[in-house]
Amino acid sequence: MKMFQRLREVFKSMKHGKPTKKYCPRCGSPKLKLSSSLDFWLTPAKYVCQECGYKGPLTMELEEEST
Ligand SMILES: [Zn+2]
Repeated sequence: MKMFQRLREVFKSMKHGKPTKKYCPRCGSPKLKLSSSLDFWLTPAKYVCQECGYKGPLTMELEEEST
C-alpha cells in the first residue's frame, strides 16, 4: 500500500506547520513580547523577554508535547 504511506507523509508535513510556542533563548521563559519599536521598518521583528530582559530577533520554538 504505497498510496497509504504517501498520505501519511502528507499528514506529517501538515502537522509540522502548526503554530509553535516561542521561548526566550537566554532563559527559556515563554514570556516573550514582540517589541514595537519605532524602527521596526529598519530591522526585523524583535522579541523582548519580560523575564530576563533579552531583546533580539531570535527565539526558541518548541512544539507542544502531545503526551
Ligand atoms: Zn529571557
